Amino acid sequence: MPAVQTCPDCGDTGWKRTSRPDGSPAVAACACRDGAPAPVRLEDIGVPRNEAERARFDRFFNVSRPLERAKGVVYKWADSFPDVKGGLLLHGPAGVGKTHLAVSLLRHIILERGISVNARFEYVPRLLREVQRVWNDPLLIDERRLAEVTRAEIVVLDQLGADTGWDKRVQERFLYILNRCIQGNGFLICTTAFPLEAAQQSTLADQITVRGVSLLHEACRVVPMPGEDYRDKVINPGLSV
Ligand SMILES: [Zn+2]
Repeated sequence: MPAVQTCPDCGDTGWKRTSRPDGSPAVAACACRDGAPAPVRLEDIGVPRNEAERARFDRFFNVSRPLERAKGVVYKWADSFPDVKGGLLLHGPAGVGKTHLAVSLLRHIILERGISVNARFEYVPRLLREVQRVWNDPLLIDERRLAEVTRAEIVVLDQLGADTGWDKRVQERFLYILNRCIQGNGFLICTTAFPLEAAQQSTLADQITVRGVSLLHEACRVVPMPGEDYRDKVINPGLSV
């Protein structure tokens, strides 16, 4: 961070105020961002290689109207960023394409729109294992790694709640990370197979605690993705008959 402000348009935040045609306030990427190096590969920000290669909005097959609607919501978010309010929580059973849409969102913003944004993709079970490895010495969590997650402007937390039964200290540490993401200036994009409704939140709460579930509720809009496993239906159509 330079000591002297170098961009008069945005105060070096990279985002500037603007307005919509109807006069209402909006946010846009400042032109000074163009000078910053953008990651060229999604793998460099944590996206698994197979997802980085195949996940694109135009390859998301609309097998049902609710999934088509979900794709529309996620695409609109990616196309409007940074002029968005809050993050998204993609909720549905395994195989409906939650990760596909989350990665498509990153691809659209970073590669297709060419916005140089600080983004991270985190597979939550792996992040929890990292947290567990350092739990004997919490200070060891490598501040650099922590900052990579919590200072990102877009953080994808993939498969939230998928891996439960963690020690309370790991749970608390993860909640701390979640909290830092939410309190920061970034946006959270989460995928989960577990519902957020109060009566059913026990599984997700087992991983991120009830407080974490309510934090997520405040930070993200829920995008329902109901349905059958689309990989069975579309990629292996013969097998599901
Ligand atoms: Zn600027």
